[in-house]
Order: sequence, then C-alpha cells, then structure tokens
Amino acid sequence: MRIYVAIIVLAFLTPGTSADTHWQLNFESYASDERQQQLQAWVNTAVDNTHNQLGALHYKHVDVSISQPVFTTEAVPWGEIKRGPPVQVVLEIGRFADIKRIRKDWTIYHELAHLYMPYLPAEDRWLSEGFATLMQNYTMLHAGIYNREQFEHRLQAGLTRGKADTRIQQGPLSEVSATMWQRQAYQRVYWSGVGYFIEVENELARHKLRLSDIIVRYNHCCFRPRSSAKEFISALDGIAKTPVFSNLYSRYRLRRDFPTINHAQIARLTISEVNLGAATGQ
Ligand SMILES: [Zn+2]
Repeated sequence: MRIYVAIIVLAFLTPGTSADTHWQLNFESYASDERQQQLQAWVNTAVDNTHNQLGALHYKHVDVSISQPVFTTEAVPWGEIKRGPPVQVVLEIGRFADIKRIRKDWTIYHELAHLYMPYLPAEDRWLSEGFATLMQNYTMLHAGIYNREQFEHRLQAGLTRGKADTRIQQGPLSEVSATMWQRQAYQRVYWSGVGYFIEVENELARHKLRLSDIIVRYNHCCFRPRSSAKEFISALDGIAKTPVFSNLYSRYRLRRDFPTINHAQIARLTISEVNLGAATGQ
C-alpha cells in the first residue's frame, strides 16, 4: 500500500518569468528537505524553459504532484496531465534517481507542452501527442539540454519507430488514435502527429511564421480547455492567416500510411528555431 505523506510546498517562481500562473508543488510521498529543494528547482527551471518557448499559459493555477516510487530504474517513469479543476501535472520520480538524470529527462517538458493545447477527443490524440512530442524537443534544444545533432537524431529515431509501428497498427490514423491505449499504438500515434507538425512548420517557414509563435498567440487570444480538433485547427489557421493547419489535418486524420519526412525538413526546424529565435524574442 502506498503511504501518502502530505507535505505541501509552495513553489514561488522567479519574478517576471511566468508570473501569471501560480505553480503549487505537492509531494505525495516522502521526500527529504534537500530532495524537495532539488525537485522544486528542477520544476521551476522546466516551467521557465517552457515559458521561453511557448509564452504565458492560459491557466492561472497549476498543481504539480510528485510521487517517488522505489521500484523503478527510470528517472521519470510516468507523467500525465489531469484537467481538473485544478489542472494538475502528475509526475513520478524514481526515489533514488540522480538529479542530473532527472534534469535530462523529457517527461516534464512533454507534459508542460500539453497545457498549451486544449483537451481533444481521443480520435485526435495524434495531434495532442505530436505537438507535445515535438515541443519537448524544441524546448530542450533551446534550453541547451540537447544540441542540434541530438535534437535531429531524436526526431529521426522517433520517426523510424513510428514507421515500423505503422506496419503493425493498421487502419486510419483517427481510428488507431481512438484505441491507442488498448492497442498500445503509441509509436504510430505520437510520431504521425510529429510528422504533421514538422510539415506544418516547414509550410509556416515559407510564410516566415513559426509554430511556437502561433501557439503563443493562440493561448493569448483563443485558448479553450476543451475543444474539437476542427475548432482548434481553424483558430490556428486564423492566427496564421493561411489554411496550412486544416489542409494538412484533412490529409492526416484518415491516412493509413506513415508520413515521409526527409532530413531537409528536420534540418529546417533547427534553422528556423535559431533564425527566428524563441517565442519571447531571444
Ligand atoms: Zn502526451
């Protein structure tokens, strides 16, 4: 039986970073004072890095709940968003995991990225997971956790896994997304979504636009906690003033094959990240 020791620590972030959102860190299993301070600093850094990439969050209050299971060899074996209220980022941290390993883990960046998108129906899960997966890599590239080579390698390796999984997980993408958990079709669903956003990003670059900036503006003007994919996509098209999101969406949602993404399309992502700078104008 898991024993919950309710230790509540208020995490105050550096002034001027994400001051509009109050982040409250809750430890749901025992953590020493030193461990709590380490993990609080790690969460603050991840929130700041994500803020640099995607700007201010719509939510005014977010709980971050941390438990520390003993029987795991992973640094961060689990993460998920609970839509609340209150909105919650749930994270499991290996009790004996070294803080250096935790800092290099992608899970928190993936979950924080989810907060910038509405909760979509299960058949459109590929959009949510594709966005969070690409964004975790962008944010970690910008934060210096990955260099460009590592960033490109991770995307290429993920796309290769997605393509291999598509041979096993057959059917239209929306159907596979709706039954992802039962089928364990994670690789196909996540990486088809990444393929979609890589194509979106390449199209946006032709208009001198960048996905992160569109999402910054979406959260400022139009964010809804729950939405249909069509409402969400048409809001993004409206901000971009081009139908790139909906054109590609209608091609992707029923596709049975895995998208072909070439190396030049991946390389262009890092070029536009470096040339156009972060969302906050770095
Ligand atoms: Zn996710």
